[in-house]
Amino acid sequence: MFSNFYKRWKRIFNRYQRRIGRLENSVMDDVHNFKEVFERNYVLEKEIAERTLELNQANKSILTLKHILSTMNSSEPLSEVLKTIVNRLANDVGYVCCMIFQLNQTGPFKGLKVRSITDNEYAKKINEILGEDIKNIEVCYDIKNNAMVEAINDSNIINIKKFSVLFDSAVQNIEEKKLQALDGLLNKRSISILPIKVQDEDFGCLVVVSVRSEITNTEKNFLSLLAGQMELAVTIANLFEQIREQAITDGLTGLYNRRHFDQCLVTEADRAIRLNQPFSVISLDLDHLKFINDNYGHAAGDAAIKRIGEVLKMNARSIDIPSRFGGEEFTIILPGIDTEGAMVAAERLRIAIETSPLPGVGTITTSVGVATFLRHTDSIGEILELVDQALYKAKRNGRNQVQLASLKEEMNWQVMALLTFVDILTKQRVPINKELADDLIEKLKKAPNDEQDLQDFLYYIVDSLTFTFEPAYQRKDIQEKIEIAAEMAKRLNMSRGERDCLKLAILLNDVGKMMVPEDLLLKPGPLDDEEKKRIIKDPVTAAKEILEPLKPSACVVNIMESYKECWDGTGYPGELKGSQIPLASRIISVIDAYFAMTSDRPYRKALAHEQAVQILKESANIKWDERLVFMFVEIMEKKKNSVITDKK
Ligand code: GH3
Ligand code: MG
Repeated sequence: MFSNFYKRWKRIFNRYQRRIGRLENSVMDDVHNFKEVFERNYVLEKEIAERTLELNQANKSILTLKHILSTMNSSEPLSEVLKTIVNRLANDVGYVCCMIFQLNQTGPFKGLKVRSITDNEYAKKINEILGEDIKNIEVCYDIKNNAMVEAINDSNIINIKKFSVLFDSAVQNIEEKKLQALDGLLNKRSISILPIKVQDEDFGCLVVVSVRSEITNTEKNFLSLLAGQMELAVTIANLFEQIREQAITDGLTGLYNRRHFDQCLVTEADRAIRLNQPFSVISLDLDHLKFINDNYGHAAGDAAIKRIGEVLKMNARSIDIPSRFGGEEFTIILPGIDTEGAMVAAERLRIAIETSPLPGVGTITTSVGVATFLRHTDSIGEILELVDQALYKAKRNGRNQVQLASLKEEMNWQVMALLTFVDILTKQRVPINKELADDLIEKLKKAPNDEQDLQDFLYYIVDSLTFTFEPAYQRKDIQEKIEIAAEMAKRLNMSRGERDCLKLAILLNDVGKMMVPEDLLLKPGPLDDEEKKRIIKDPVTAAKEILEPLKPSACVVNIMESYKECWDGTGYPGELKGSQIPLASRIISVIDAYFAMTSDRPYRKALAHEQAVQILKESANIKWDERLVFMFVEIMEKKKNSVITDKK
């Protein structure tokens, strides 16, 4: 019974064992299959991930190339283009750090120096290890055992595994432990060096620190493509830089030109006003250039101009703006420098020029003017005028010296007149012959400093000018006119500024008349109505044309513009009435009428004093201000009896 049961159980057991065996085999087969599928999937997924990575990389590379291309077209300066390249390669393509080494030969030998490096933590670490900016380190190019030199010479991409290799044959002695620390920083990464050529000339190389230990073919292709784009980018940036430099540089001296100076002056003035921080302007003019030209030839004159350019460049701080203003005049903007500092700088320049003689010519000297923006003026137009005036003062005082600008209020009317005449004559604003103009300019440069002498001298200049155009002109007229005007101004309690403007206007009024067409001025016989209109109109227009651009005498324009107005409003050009007419214009109108009537004209003889006074009185309240007519007559009568002593 038991054996039967056992046999049956054994049979069942065997049967199930066989079934389990079969099941086991089938499960094992499935496991095997599953493993195979799993492994295949795993490989596939890995491949997909790698391809995606490559695709992303390629995308980034294309973007980087695209960006470099757009930088290239944006006329950015070379330094900006290079900066974009090194930063893009690190931030977009994923390089750890990139540097561009550039070949230079400013020193005694050819060397390679970092011109641009990625702005990131890795670059900071390199500098920390070196203990200085990597840009200061120079690798000798002529010794050919350096990987960068090899890459450039062989026009080939080179891969290195040690940072220290870059600094083989560095000019500076870099300590061994620093080199080891750099290799430690590189760790298992690698460095690729790409030569860069620009228009078939060696420019330098691009050095990229890669995360990978080996450079892949894809990477190599990308880097080669990049090198080609960089060549174009650098060429274009160089071209733009050249054009930009030519546009702002003076050809003879290499200093900035007038255009650039003007732009900088506006920027500096804006900044000065915004930050309430002054800046100074120094103006230099070569002394006796004409003499150098005449005696040693034009080339020697040019050499003298060049020499000044060199001295200015050598002495300028990097933020100073030294420029050739034109001809033999130079100007320097000194940002952030007040009067005291500028005077020291100006004197240093003057001495530097005086103490470096020019071969074949000898000592050359300069006259120098200094003015400070925000101290002497806060107007761009005025700062140049003031520095010019200071320079002019230096010339008058004997040349080869520095003079500081005067504050505008401190300048007396005689100096204003003097400067106005210089401007009128040098710019040939009046139609007199060049010889007379040159002669007068020469005399003006030697004008006396004493106030009284200077005043007499000014009368002489006006005399000389006016006499050329108006032979009937009485030499003593101008002096008398000014003396009477001064007396009237005093009685009318006019301020010093108003008095100065009045005197200046009288002095310049006759110069304005010089613009009257010669045919009318010398016409025998009375003028017809049309001609009268011209003669009335022209001095006013001329005065405006001549004087408006000249700042020291700008106050005069308004006075001169209205001196043909009549008290009753029938005058020219604004038909102003009574007190609408500026007081100074009313004074000039009376004085001028009297002196015109009492001098000979081509078409009539001079009227006697009494006749002229009679006419003035008859037309008081019609043509002239009655109060002024009587005041004038009283002064004239007094003058006839005694000499007016006040010459102010
Ligand atoms: P001063 O001391 O009063 O400045 O006398 P100067 O002779 O230097 O000045 P002036 O204004 O009388 O004459 C300047 C001369 O310089 C006249 C002009 O022909 C000459 N000049 C202007 N530009 C140049 C230039 O670029 N080269 C040379 N060689 N001469 C120039
Ligand atoms: Mg000169």
